[in-house]
Amino acid sequence: MNDLDIKQQDAKALAAGYSKSFRMVEILSIISFWSLSIAIAVKASAFTSTYPWVLVAALVAGFLMADFVGGFVHWLGDTWGSTEMPILGKALIRPFREHHVDEKAMTRHDYIETNGANCMVAVPVAAGALLIPLTIEGWVAPALFALVSIGSMIFWVMMTNQIHKWSHLEVDEMPPLLQTFQRLHLVLPPGHHQTHHTAPFDTYYCITTGWLNWPLAKLNFYRHMERLVTAVTGLIPRKDDIGLEAALKVAPLTSADAPKPSPQAL
Ligand SMILES: [Zn+2]
Ligand SMILES: [Zn+2]
Repeated sequence: MNDLDIKQQDAKALAAGYSKSFRMVEILSIISFWSLSIAIAVKASAFTSTYPWVLVAALVAGFLMADFVGGFVHWLGDTWGSTEMPILGKALIRPFREHHVDEKAMTRHDYIETNGANCMVAVPVAAGALLIPLTIEGWVAPALFALVSIGSMIFWVMMTNQIHKWSHLEVDEMPPLLQTFQRLHLVLPPGHHQTHHTAPFDTYYCITTGWLNWPLAKLNFYRHMERLVTAVTGLIPRKDDIGLEAALKVAPLTSADAPKPSPQAL
């Protein structure tokens, strides 16, 4: 892929797109997220002695789902839309574009800028989960599983950006315990994540543990999804991120758009 003529946006212009009003929304989202998460924990804690294994299974299921959901949202943000779109462009798409042109920028972001957007996405899910009734006879265990797995999933989705940020720190900035977790692959290891930062940024989107990156790449999951979206909408994946020419080489619409083999390769 070294012959791709990748045209990315200006890092300074992308960083300048972070506005004061969006920061206020992020602060409110973080407060709402933690309030709702505590409410979920309190609601579930009444069942620790009656359904302990349901709680354990749901916590693990949520952890696994978070790697997929976080990766899927990352793929959406990297692949579709543009920073020029109203609301979504500045608020949600801009950080994805910025991260590909300046991968260290996020290490300079504080707690609010790192985690605010993920909290914003998680708030309506947490509020919906709290509506799950835990009193219907015969349905307590599945309802409890749903509540706690959603609660665990949104917690780890919220942590995704923090874990992602840790993977971009210099080694001397990382606490020893974090390095141990990364080495054990319990959180995203920096070396593993660099596969995503190799142009044209079209694989290894999962950034919580990264456990699902290899199987999803083997299944060609994202290329199948992109072909489906292009067939329905006509949009070209990664056009805003790397420019039309490179985007067409990565995901050709017709065989005429496909990259020609270089003379050396013949
Ligand atoms: Zn990315
Ligand atoms: Zn990264």
